[in-house]
Amino acid sequence: MKFKFNAGIATRTAVVLFAFTCGALLGVLVVPVGYLRGFRPVSISAVSLCISAAGLIAVARIGVWLIGLAENKQHRLDRDLLDTFLEHIPDNVFFKDPKSRFVRVSRSFARYIGLEDPAQVIHKTDAEVFSREHASQARADEEQLLRTAEPIVDQEEKETWPDGRETWVLTTKVAMKDRGGRIIGTMGIAHNITDRKQAELKVRHMALHDPLTGLPNRALLEDRLAQAIAQAGRNRKRAAVLMFDLDRFKSINDSFGHHIGDRLLESMAVRLKECLRKSDTIARMGGDEFVIAIPTISTTEEVELIATKVLTTLAEPFEIGGHRLQVSASIGICLHSQDGETPELLLQYADAAMYEAKRRGRNCYCFFSPAFTEATQRQQKLESELVHACARNEFVLHYQPFVDSKSGCVTGVESLVRWEHPELGLIPPSEFMPELEELDLIVEVGTWVLKKACHQAVEWQLSGIPPIRMAVNISAKQFYQEDFVDQVSSALAGTGLKPELLELELADSKTLDDSELTVTIMERLKRIGVKLSLDDFGTGWSSLSYLKRFPLDRIKIDPSFVRDIGTDAAAGAVVKNILALGRDLGIDCVAEGVETIKQSHFLTRQACSEMQGFLFSPPLPAAAMTKLLCEVPFESETGTERSSRPIASSVPTPPLQIPS
Ligand SMILES: [Mg+2]
Repeated sequence: MKFKFNAGIATRTAVVLFAFTCGALLGVLVVPVGYLRGFRPVSISAVSLCISAAGLIAVARIGVWLIGLAENKQHRLDRDLLDTFLEHIPDNVFFKDPKSRFVRVSRSFARYIGLEDPAQVIHKTDAEVFSREHASQARADEEQLLRTAEPIVDQEEKETWPDGRETWVLTTKVAMKDRGGRIIGTMGIAHNITDRKQAELKVRHMALHDPLTGLPNRALLEDRLAQAIAQAGRNRKRAAVLMFDLDRFKSINDSFGHHIGDRLLESMAVRLKECLRKSDTIARMGGDEFVIAIPTISTTEEVELIATKVLTTLAEPFEIGGHRLQVSASIGICLHSQDGETPELLLQYADAAMYEAKRRGRNCYCFFSPAFTEATQRQQKLESELVHACARNEFVLHYQPFVDSKSGCVTGVESLVRWEHPELGLIPPSEFMPELEELDLIVEVGTWVLKKACHQAVEWQLSGIPPIRMAVNISAKQFYQEDFVDQVSSALAGTGLKPELLELELADSKTLDDSELTVTIMERLKRIGVKLSLDDFGTGWSSLSYLKRFPLDRIKIDPSFVRDIGTDAAAGAVVKNILALGRDLGIDCVAEGVETIKQSHFLTRQACSEMQGFLFSPPLPAAAMTKLLCEVPFESETGTERSSRPIASSVPTPPLQIPS
C-alpha cells in the first residue's frame, strides 16, 4: 500500500499530517513539534480543532477499514460456503449469465452431464449438453425469468440426451439480482427424479397394458377409441372396431397346458402387431379376446382387407414348446358412426358381430347388423342357463344315419347332442358346445352322451333291429382324461354293447396332437375292440401325419370340401385325393354334409364308401330314428347279410335311398 503524506498544520507541540491512500483519507499522523522546525505557529484553538477533527476522521476511517476487513472475511467465508455447498449437494445446481451460459455449477451437475470437473461446464450452454428441443425450452424459460423475475417452481422436465436417453428432473429456477436489485442472471436447482418417473411410468403402463402380451388393455383401448372417434369426425372419415377371439382356444389350454396357451397368445400379439399399421391399436381384452381399433377408414373394403390379413396371419401354424399349433379366429366388425357413436356401443356391437361370425362357422369375419344384438342376448341367456341344463337333464341325443354309397342302405348312425330348452326349444350344439368347454362341462356331458348312445344302440337291438354301428363324438378334453379308456369300457359293460359296434369320432387335429400319449390311448381303445374315426378330416394342418401314426378305421371328409363339390374344382380335387389316400392306406371314408344329388353322384363315382347328410336324412330324435330303421334297409355291422326284416321292399323313397 502506498501512502502519501500532505503537509499539515504545525503547532508548538505537534504537527498533524493527514495520511491518504488512493486519494482517500486513511487517518492522521501527529508529530511532536520538536521534530519539526520552521513551521508557522497557529492558535491553540485552531490546533485543537484540527486535532479533534483529524482524530474523528481517523477513527471513522479506521472503523471503515476494519469493517472492510470484516467484510472481506465474510466474503471469503461466503465463497467457501458456496464452494462446499456446490461440491457436496447431490442436486444439480447451476448459475447462468443472462445469455444462459453456465457460470457456476455443482459437482453433481457436472457429473450428471458426464464431466468430472465443474470448471469444464463454465461458459457452456444447454445446447452443447442436451437435445436441441430441451435446450430451446430451457432458454425460453430463462428468457421469461430474466424478463419477469417470476420464479419457476417445481417444474418437471424431461431431458432428452443426444444418445436418445431420457431423464427427468424437478427444477426450480429464480432470477439472480445484485445488491441494487438488477437482474444479472438465473440460478436453478434440479432434483433428478428419473427413478421415480420410471416407477410411475411403469405403474401407469401396468395399469393400461396387459401383463402377458404387453398390449393395451380395455381401459387404454377405450381411451384410444374415443380419440379415434374424435379424429374420424374431424377428418370426415370413419373408424372401425374389429373384435375377435380364437376358435377353440380352450381346447389348446386343456390339451397342452396353460403355459403353452399363454405363449401362443404372446406370439399372436407379436404377429398381429407386425401386420397392423402404427396408427392402429390392438388390445387384449382378456382371455383370448382381442380388439383392433382402426382410427380412419375410407371404405369397408379397407376393413375387409385388414380382417382377411388377421385371419391369414393367424392361419400360419405357431411352433410353441415343441408343438405345432394351428389356430383360427372369428372376427366381428363394427363401424363408426354407421353402427354406433361411443366406444362402449362400438365394442358391444363388435361383440355381437363376433358371435355371429362364430355362428357362421368360425374362421371368418362378419359386419355388425342390428339383428345380431337379439341373437347375442339369446346367446347370453343360453350361457347363463347352460350350467343348470346338466342338472335338469335337458340334453337329448339325435341320430343321423350313414348310408352305403352303392346300396343306399343305412350302415350306422352318429349320435349328436341337442339341448331341449324349456322355453327356447331345441338348441343346436353350435350354440352351446363352446360354452360347455368354457364351463368345463364338456367331459360331464360327453360321458353322459357315451352312455346314452351305447344304451340306445342296445335298445334298438332289443327291439329287433339288427346290430348297428353307433358313432359318438369325443372331445379332446374327454379323450385326454386319465380314465377315458375305463369310461369307454364301463359304458360298454354297463349297456352290453359289443365294442365293435361303437365308433369313437375324434376331434380334428386342432385339438388332438400327434404325441405318443395320443397313440397310446388310441391303441388301448383298439385293444378293447372299439372303432376309431377322425372327424372333420382335411381341416387340420397335420391330418396326413395322423394317418400314418393313428390306428384309424375311418376318416370323415369335412363338409366344407363336400359343399363345394361341383362349384369349386379345387374342392373336388381335394376330396378325390383324400379318397385315394384312404384307399391306399386301407381306411374307409365317409363324406359328411352331402346335400345335393350332384355331390352324391360325384362321391359315388370316386368310390367314396359312405355318405352322411341332409340329402338322406337330418339328425332325428330317437323315436323317429327307430321308425326309420324299421322302415329302411340297412347293413348290419356284424354280417354282410341284409337285414332279415323284409323292409327293403317297404323302403319308401328318398330321402334315405340314394337318388339316381
Ligand atoms: Mg362328428
